[in-house]
Amino acid sequence: MGNLGLNIFNTGTKFIEAKELVKEVYMMDERPWVVGFSGGKDSTAVVQLVFQALQELNPSELHKKVYVISSDTQVETPLIIDKITRTLGRIQEKALGAGLPIETQKVRPKVEQTFWTSIIGKGYPTPRQKFRWCTDRLKIEPANRFILDKVDQFGEVVMLLGVRDSESSTRAAVMQSHTIEGKKLMRHSTLKNAFVFAPIRSFDVDDVWEFLLQYESPWGDDNNELLELYQNSSSECPLVVDREVKESAGSCGNSRFGCWTCTVVNEDKALSGFINNGVDWLRPLYEFRNFLVQIREDHSKRQKQRMNGEVYLLPYNEEIEEGQVIVKKSDLKEYLEANHINLATVEELNILVEDEDGTIKRFGVGPFTLKAREEILRQLLRTQKQIRELHDPATELISLEELKIIRKYWHEDLQWEDRLPLIVEEETGQVYDWNHDDRPVFKEDQLTDLETLCQEEGVNLSVLKQLISIEIDYSGVKVRRGLFQAFDKTLKQDFLHL
Ligand code: SF4
Repeated sequence: MGNLGLNIFNTGTKFIEAKELVKEVYMMDERPWVVGFSGGKDSTAVVQLVFQALQELNPSELHKKVYVISSDTQVETPLIIDKITRTLGRIQEKALGAGLPIETQKVRPKVEQTFWTSIIGKGYPTPRQKFRWCTDRLKIEPANRFILDKVDQFGEVVMLLGVRDSESSTRAAVMQSHTIEGKKLMRHSTLKNAFVFAPIRSFDVDDVWEFLLQYESPWGDDNNELLELYQNSSSECPLVVDREVKESAGSCGNSRFGCWTCTVVNEDKALSGFINNGVDWLRPLYEFRNFLVQIREDHSKRQKQRMNGEVYLLPYNEEIEEGQVIVKKSDLKEYLEANHINLATVEELNILVEDEDGTIKRFGVGPFTLKAREEILRQLLRTQKQIRELHDPATELISLEELKIIRKYWHEDLQWEDRLPLIVEEETGQVYDWNHDDRPVFKEDQLTDLETLCQEEGVNLSVLKQLISIEIDYSGVKVRRGLFQAFDKTLKQDFLHL
């Protein structure tokens, strides 16, 4: 932060202008507002500004709803999400008391798309800058669902964001390009019928702090506490409601306001700041997050094919080591089959591939193997146990709904042994009422027989399991038109047809 307080007259005028602008835009039309609130400084400033502006309007002018939404990715840093929940409660209470049309709500990812169901269920590699699938699934999609629901109800909505031109020149350019000429609103980059209003667009970081510290929080929060949270961390992870505007702001996660599991940043900021301040019970989470980074880099834990079964080869630029086998690409399929190598389960693969042009390549890696997913689940349940012992016996790092979806995903990925209920029981001692209809078709001993038979007959077990799964999916369905296409797709998978 720079010189707070030196420019009170100028910034004071700036704040008054911003508030007047908020009132003007609010009165302009009937479109409801949706304010994204992350708990960070910028979005707190926006909500505070809106609250103050609405308080200055006549009750008869308060003609439309303002929804304040926060994203709960379900892997939020525990202390931060508690703070957000408390703040949302206070905003709601104060707004009701003051007769303001404000409604607060948390938005969450669908259970099929949470951090754990994606990683442990589907095997998504833990996110990194180059493959940052999490922002979409955990933040953008849930917020968009909320917005689209309001669009359905009201025709159009206006999103209020705490973005600022001074954050980066790229962001300023993106915002400029979306601004409707002569208007106070910008077009949402992807959602039709949604518009964006950035009331603190002209603020710099000092203005934001000055505004927060100079004016008392209308719902009784202490903004000095917020300031303390920013020590050692410069950025925040906003509730993303416009991907393009967000992307131009660079990475999220490098702050205390991201997910505690964030593996996009090299150095954790979400937890370490609290631990350094003596919140010791967070340490198991910190260690687990580091485990998530390491396991991603361990190729033995990753499938040697993509989620759809496709194989991809990458240039191999290292020395060829002893024990590595070089196989011609044209012979690869035969080699894999002859050696019973399943690319979805094999851990160490000492095969290099000689391409048609003579270049040597290695296998690219895909999702976590089922074995690695089991390992992550066990480790997560152990961490949960530690937090329960150290801090709060009611802590839930993963929900029962998520466990049920993961079990379903494992079945779809042909784990017919139904190992999830067993793992949960072993790690937590709890036995849940699992849905028995979801039980796999074959028992473990039958599976072993099937495996032996496949070996004897030279049939690929994994493909056979997929074919049986498809047949089960279509059983009882009258029109089985898609069945043969699904069979065909399975039989044409890349690992069979390299
Ligand atoms: S904080 Fe990290 S893990 Fe969470 S959505 Fe942002 S980038 Fe992804």
